[in-house]
Amino acid sequence: MNVIAEHLGAIKQSAASTASARAAELIRQGRDIIRLTAGEPDFETPEHVQLAGIRAIIEGKTKYPPIPGILPLREAICRKLKKDNGLTYAPEQVIAGAGCKQVIYNALGVTLNPGDEVVIPAPYFGCYVDQTLLNRGVPVVIESRPAERFKLTPERLEAALTPRSKWLILNNPGNPSGTVYDPADLEALAEVLRRHPQVWLLSDDIYEHLIYEGAAFHSILEFAPDLGERTLVVNGFSKTYCMTGWRLGYGAGPITLIKNMVKLQSQSTSGACSISQWAGVAALDGDHGFAVRNRAVFQQRRDRVVERINAIDGLSCVTPQGAFYVFIACEGLLGRRTPDGKVLEGEGDVVDFLLHEAEVAVINGASFGLSPFIRISFAAKTELLDEACRRIAAACARLK
Ligand code: PMP
Repeated sequence: MNVIAEHLGAIKQSAASTASARAAELIRQGRDIIRLTAGEPDFETPEHVQLAGIRAIIEGKTKYPPIPGILPLREAICRKLKKDNGLTYAPEQVIAGAGCKQVIYNALGVTLNPGDEVVIPAPYFGCYVDQTLLNRGVPVVIESRPAERFKLTPERLEAALTPRSKWLILNNPGNPSGTVYDPADLEALAEVLRRHPQVWLLSDDIYEHLIYEGAAFHSILEFAPDLGERTLVVNGFSKTYCMTGWRLGYGAGPITLIKNMVKLQSQSTSGACSISQWAGVAALDGDHGFAVRNRAVFQQRRDRVVERINAIDGLSCVTPQGAFYVFIACEGLLGRRTPDGKVLEGEGDVVDFLLHEAEVAVINGASFGLSPFIRISFAAKTELLDEACRRIAAACARLK
């Protein structure tokens, strides 16, 4: 008898963790693999944030925290949302969780009835689809095109919405596309949502501060405050504050939604790690000079990678305006033959070829709902990125 629930059959292990594990195994066997798979800054957590965590331990702030999060953190989140985004929330409208992933899981868990639809623009962060399936919902994927900078258009959104649509998940800036929505885009999407009052909006803003010259972050709620009563803003500490391992993220939204998310979390994992929460207060309230410096480094890396990738015959990418990924079209490599005689038939073959021939680990586009593409994370040391691009170019030059 199979002990595993049937709906788990449709769930995939997270793509980044699978690709990283595969590369780690080759490294263990002695191969010199460059891993560009993880969505994780290579920088350390800023020192003042580290020290706040250490202080929390020494001061004994190590007991069970309140389920929605310690009040000083929720107050700091409210100040942040006001200062950065012009949004007004009370601490009762905020929940902290073990990363944005848990916050999204809570939101879907307390709202989806079997068969409810979650509209997810592709390319997407994979967990949106799998978490929807885990909660017996139905992912409705809307594809996009590189020529449109992978943006969700109002026309395609309108066409995807049905009476069963429960959520639209909008990730801005986007993983893996780097897409940044400008005010006109957001206003047009808001206009569509106004015509469908049953649809809630989950705005995943985790890359808010990872945005490059010429682009700016805007929350859709700046232009459509009326959508606030059915929007959950999700944000976190992993990317901006280089705190992936601290596991801390948050959601802000209508009080009934938040209360139910707190109820779910009270029966699943309880409050997020107390030490991380005190570090989170220091992160939000502290100096953000490090974020400006990190962003400048990311922008240089982005420019180097984009230039080098676009110089390779068979690969092409649009310049991402935010986040730290390059989503590369690899259609031009399909049909070519590797030195050992294998024809590259799909993006999976390209990923395998790059792993074994170039010794560079990347993730396939299908994990993000759009093929044939590959994703490179440029949250890695500049020298490594240069070497990876050199290896990819050399390997591609060996294709016939
Ligand atoms: N949203 C997006 C778009 C992401 O790319 C990620 C991390 N890859 C997350 C959420 C999850 O972040 P956290 O570490 O806060 O769970």
